Amino acid sequence: MRSQHSQARILRRSVLVACLMLLPLLMVETFAASDLTAADLSTAGATTGVSKLAAKPVGQPLLDVIGTPDSDRVPQTAMVSDCRKGYVALTFDDGPSIFTPKLVNTLERLEIPAAFFIVGYRVKGHRKIVQQVRDAGFTIGSHTWDHANLLAVGPKRVMRELRSTNRALAAVGVEKISLFRPPYGLTNKRIRKQARSLQMSHVMWTADSNDWRGGGPHQIANRVLAQLRPHTPNIVLQHDGLSRSMYSIRAVPIIVKRAAQRGYCFTSLDQRGNLVIPEAGAPAPGPTPTPSPLPAPTTSVVPAP
Ligand SMILES: [Zn+2]
Repeated sequence: MRSQHSQARILRRSVLVACLMLLPLLMVETFAASDLTAADLSTAGATTGVSKLAAKPVGQPLLDVIGTPDSDRVPQTAMVSDCRKGYVALTFDDGPSIFTPKLVNTLERLEIPAAFFIVGYRVKGHRKIVQQVRDAGFTIGSHTWDHANLLAVGPKRVMRELRSTNRALAAVGVEKISLFRPPYGLTNKRIRKQARSLQMSHVMWTADSNDWRGGGPHQIANRVLAQLRPHTPNIVLQHDGLSRSMYSIRAVPIIVKRAAQRGYCFTSLDQRGNLVIPEAGAPAPGPTPTPSPLPAPTTSVVPAP
């Protein structure tokens, strides 16, 4: 009898644990992205200028987009304001994950470029998601094979981390990975040199969302917005591969809208990790971005996921 009771207790506990484990998945299903669209940015005092928006209100200035020839792809630079404060590049680490498609849809809807720093071992199980990121025209970079602290491993392991991730991405059709973000931002001269030997450039960040620490979409957005600096290249760090990533993804439309209101535009990273800045007065769309050198990274040494 006692053993039956104890079995029932164990069963109830197992069901409870299973439910708790499933909760994040259920929350993903019910997670609805903000209703903000690229067109909404116009009403916020910012003009989207995205060429495929046929319904542009007459009389508003058209600030064009430096885009790719394929108009279905996310533009390289989204002039969502008059850019008087400068430029911002959004970056997302630790994916791909079940959250990544939602993020891709959100960015596509807003027509905002971004870079995804992908963890190699996750590629095989999320092949279609990686291809979705690629097909949408987003930049894909490496975040090592298994998110290793590269300062704690030897040079051979560092090369394995980089090469195996590049191979995994090549296997799903993503070639020539030129950008690399070291996990936790931990790196040194030797690791930089090793990455360079594979024609890969380091990309750090200037605005840390700390999305993994906590907070809802508005808190995450506020952290990012507080770190934007005018007339300097701003690179935002967020995550799409963590259990809290849905909050970070919901922060994206808020960041985009409010940064645009302040006079920032959004742009992508070039192959050396610099922000793509259109030349002043350059006709758009055009293929001639002017690389702008990044300042010394202001990366905190506090490890981020
Ligand atoms: Zn990471």
